[in-house]
Amino acid sequence: MDLIQIRRKLHQIPELGFQEFETTAYLKQILAQFPTLIIRDFTFPGFLAEYRTNNKAYKLFRADIDGLPIREENDCPFVSQHPGKMHACGHDLHMTILLGLIEKVMQHRPDQNLLFLFQPAEEGHGGAERVLETGILDEYEISEAFALHVNGLMSVGTIQSKAGIFFSNTQEVEVNFIGRSAHVARAWEGRNALAAGADFYLNLQKNIQEAFPEENTAICHFGKMQAGTVMNAIAAHCVLEGSMRAFNDADWKKLQSLLENTAQTSAQKYELQYRINYGSFYKHVINNAELYQKLKTKAAELHLIFSEAEKTFTGEDFGYFAERYPGLLFWLGASNGQPNGLHSSDFLPDEKAIPIGIELFYKFI
Ligand SMILES: [Zn+2]
Ligand SMILES: [Zn+2]
Repeated sequence: MDLIQIRRKLHQIPELGFQEFETTAYLKQILAQFPTLIIRDFTFPGFLAEYRTNNKAYKLFRADIDGLPIREENDCPFVSQHPGKMHACGHDLHMTILLGLIEKVMQHRPDQNLLFLFQPAEEGHGGAERVLETGILDEYEISEAFALHVNGLMSVGTIQSKAGIFFSNTQEVEVNFIGRSAHVARAWEGRNALAAGADFYLNLQKNIQEAFPEENTAICHFGKMQAGTVMNAIAAHCVLEGSMRAFNDADWKKLQSLLENTAQTSAQKYELQYRINYGSFYKHVINNAELYQKLKTKAAELHLIFSEAEKTFTGEDFGYFAERYPGLLFWLGASNGQPNGLHSSDFLPDEKAIPIGIELFYKFI
């Protein structure tokens, strides 16, 4: 396989969650050269590829396949051909690494049953949960589950991970305040949704700081707020969109009730209605301690630079797999020389990370 060319092709055709039809077709077309590989489809994009050689347990390797609704600002020759969509989270590399891993498996034919999951909709649409709901994985005995994530802030050749809680619980949230419009000259006839939204925003940050005095425990950040339609009328509607994150379930419950109580208090204060809508919930990622120790050893064998990661407020639905099976997720250094973070419009991980991801995965086979 020409993995560089494959990666570039994948980079050109980013698709959003559960719409990854072109991507799925392209991946399957490449894997068609391995007729002994069993391809199992879902009723949605993505698929499971099975390599079977004995009657024992399977190891699962997972790559996410979706892109993001971001307009790419790179000027590389393989820039996104899908306007407004971009592989800004490096899932094009994840797919390429999994393809390269399959090729290596087909060459060496190890005596180990394997599953390769090309999972759709990691970015906020709950793809992992949907795959699990199909029950397909219940047909297998799975002993271990693996995933990696490229990291544009770490040099190529470096690896990071952490035993135990690694990535946080994550959920997107939308808070709506529904008031009543009125001309500013007769403001008393209205119910000010903008004021309630602003009050809520400020109080929530204060309440979170009070409830979680220790830093790096729980956050709820709003990146978007919209209210009103015209400058001289009371805003009838205000919506705040944000994201909640916490590392354990107790903190999560506490954070959620803070959010709800604060919204209720602001709504009462301004005598209006409120409504909270939650997005897909992403379970925290807990790495198996034994697999983490193995990762250290295997990274050293490949002369990679390993260090222990900090836990992070990043969300990853691999948590659903790591909850069911002993699981391991690690950061794969992929900086192209200029530090750029995940989800930025100029994110462009270095292709030199591809063979490293393949070799490290293969070490676990
Ligand atoms: Zn992402
Ligand atoms: Zn990602």
